[in-house]
Amino acid sequence: MRVEASCTITVSIDDISVNSIEQAVLEGAREAGKKLFLAFLELIEKALPKERICDCGGHLESRGRVSRELMTVAGDILFRRQKLRCLQCGGGEISSG
Ligand SMILES: [Zn+2]
Repeated sequence: MRVEASCTITVSIDDISVNSIEQAVLEGAREAGKKLFLAFLELIEKALPKERICDCGGHLESRGRVSRELMTVAGDILFRRQKLRCLQCGGGEISSG
C-alpha cells in the first residue's frame, strides 16, 4: 500500500530564523502525517472484504459511521469508521478500517 500527502509551510521573511523554520517544518510534518494516516485508513477500509462475518457466523451489516479519535505521533486524528451490526446475534463491531 502506498499513499502520498503534501503539505505547505509558511515562514515570514521578517521572522526568519532556524527556530521559526524548525517550527514551521514540524507543523508541516504533523499536517502531512495526519493526511497520510487518513489516506492509509481509507485504503485499508477499501481493501477490507465487502462481506464481513461475525464471530458467531452471522453476516455483519453496515450501520453507518461513527467518529473515532486516534492518538498518533502526528497528533490526534479524527476519522469516521464504519459501524457494523450482526444480523444473527445483534453483536456490534467497529470496522478496523
Ligand atoms: Zn453475530
